[in-house]
Amino acid sequence: MRIDVVTVFPEYLAPLDLSLIGRARERGLLDLNVHDLRRWTHDVHHSVDGAPAGGGAGMVMKPQPWGECLDELVPEDGEARPRLLVTSPAGRPFTQALARELAAEPWLMFACGRYEGIDQRVVDHAAERMEVTEVSIGDYVLFGGEVAVLAIVEAVSRLLPGVLGNAASLDDESHNAGLLEAPAYTRPAEWRGREVPPVLLSGDHGKVDRWRRDQALLRTARARPDLLARLEAGSLDQRDRRL
Ligand code: SAM
Repeated sequence: MRIDVVTVFPEYLAPLDLSLIGRARERGLLDLNVHDLRRWTHDVHHSVDGAPAGGGAGMVMKPQPWGECLDELVPEDGEARPRLLVTSPAGRPFTQALARELAAEPWLMFACGRYEGIDQRVVDHAAERMEVTEVSIGDYVLFGGEVAVLAIVEAVSRLLPGVLGNAASLDDESHNAGLLEAPAYTRPAEWRGREVPPVLLSGDHGKVDRWRRDQALLRTARARPDLLARLEAGSLDQRDRRL
């Protein structure tokens, strides 16, 4: 997968060199490029913002650098077009389902807003040339889109074939099949007077699976009853219903 990120703070994206994403890049599974928006400015101050039309607090990102940046990175005569993700607290909520959708795309491009956001005409103009999704990572407001991009790129990359050492670990994960995952334990069997639930040490895989399923249901009911309410009735078995 190719990923391009456009930002006025390229240094913010440095963590994308680390850990499993860094390794995926080294192994050629991820072709990730970070671009400084100021490259497409022409004044001595490399300014990217202007006062908001209509007045009000803060500044708005000017359309000119964004327009020239998108023209260069996505040439009119190029065959491929990215899916452009414009980070915004007013965007589509980012979920595991959207992460799966994005993981199937060959090319993602991220636009990181700053200040009061990007002039809306950039989004509307780009939407005539490529698929554009405004995306929010939650109902709160950040200073800029960079942290949102880190979260989205991490969630999407770990779904790409070959990025995770053991892809089976995706199967029972929280938000995969609508439930939160059961709590996890490791050695020692007893720590500070607290024991690993004995069933997990029993060696009986059937019982372990059943215990994990029960715990997943109980945890979801306690922490996220909204998820439980959305589960399809057909996905519950007899024992689930008794819980
Ligand atoms: N004035 C905007 C509003 O009220 O919708 C908020 C602008 S915010 C201070 C600056 C930038 O941070 C946004 O353009 C966006 O790129 C990013 N941002 C802030 N919160 C975000 C969130 N929850 N999800 C995704 N991006 C966010």
